[in-house]
Amino acid sequence: METRELTCVVCPAGCKITVTLEDGKITDITGQTCPRGKTYAQNEVTHPVRTLTTTVLMDNAAGGAKTLPVKTNKPLSKGLLFAAMEELAGYTVTAPVAVGDVLVKDFMEPGIDLVACKTVK
Ligand code: SF4
Repeated sequence: METRELTCVVCPAGCKITVTLEDGKITDITGQTCPRGKTYAQNEVTHPVRTLTTTVLMDNAAGGAKTLPVKTNKPLSKGLLFAAMEELAGYTVTAPVAVGDVLVKDFMEPGIDLVACKTVK
């Protein structure tokens, strides 16, 4: 038997959740105070994901902006985050760009896009 202690990050309450596993399968989840916490714990143990938020380099911006805040429109597999940051290290966006613009379609995983978080002219 194995136990994993988690802090639910779905809302600010930060419930402490204990997941019990046997032979790699979840047998019990305790400590959550709502169903969202149970779903979070199941996903965190079986397939952890995170929304990537970062900045990329810009050129040609009218106001002289050097960086653009970006994020993935859906959470990526947690194991891909470092590779995603490496991928973006050499990536440059050319202005103009509008908030919500898809900068990279199918970024790292099919169905996940990298989008702009700010309008820059
Ligand atoms: S279990 Fe529910 S109440 Fe507790 S932190 Fe998660 S979402 Fe919030």
